[in-house]
Amino acid sequence: MSSRDAAISGLPLARSAVARTRDVLRELIDFRVRSLPVPVGVLRNFDKVWAHFKQPVMPIDTFGLFPRVTTLQELLTSIDSVYQGIADTLADANANAIFRDPSESVFGPRTKAFVLRGPRVAGEPPPGPLWPDSIYFAAGFADLGPLKRAEITVHECAHWQNNQLIQDNAQPGFENYQKMDAGLALLNAWSYSQFALDCAFGRALPFADNE
Ligand SMILES: [Zn+2]
Repeated sequence: MSSRDAAISGLPLARSAVARTRDVLRELIDFRVRSLPVPVGVLRNFDKVWAHFKQPVMPIDTFGLFPRVTTLQELLTSIDSVYQGIADTLADANANAIFRDPSESVFGPRTKAFVLRGPRVAGEPPPGPLWPDSIYFAAGFADLGPLKRAEITVHECAHWQNNQLIQDNAQPGFENYQKMDAGLALLNAWSYSQFALDCAFGRALPFADNE
């Protein structure tokens, strides 16, 4: 099975993780304090937002990815808009058009997937028929466990929503992931993939390769 075929076969798991994540966000967007105490499940889910997207200090600017964020509702709906884009990308017809096997190895064996879209930066293959805008699943992706494959698929789809702005700013488990602010987190592909793992699987850290 090619890596791309493995990614296609993993679409249902990736989609269900994103759907679960959007359910959580919907609950938080709709939440209004009517009586205290706040239900413990709601508090726990807000904690997941703070863990991966950070406690907001308004206003938050994102280089134009979102309009200036000034309220909690705007923060949550902005986050959800990226997951809506990810869900659209994971639809069968779109994924079949966007997912690809690379024509040659470019980034070394540790890179299991990558996104090329729009202007290419130094070190990326040039645009053209060999390297169209796509999400590429590299050799080794098919050997990963199903949960790790879903994680990577969601992560790459986050890049795909805006490859110039949504980058790898800080990785879960590292100090800079703890220390980044909300503005940086909204532009961090890892925040989108890890928040989804936390909502769908209760995982605050990335999966191991064999999971
Ligand atoms: Zn990335």
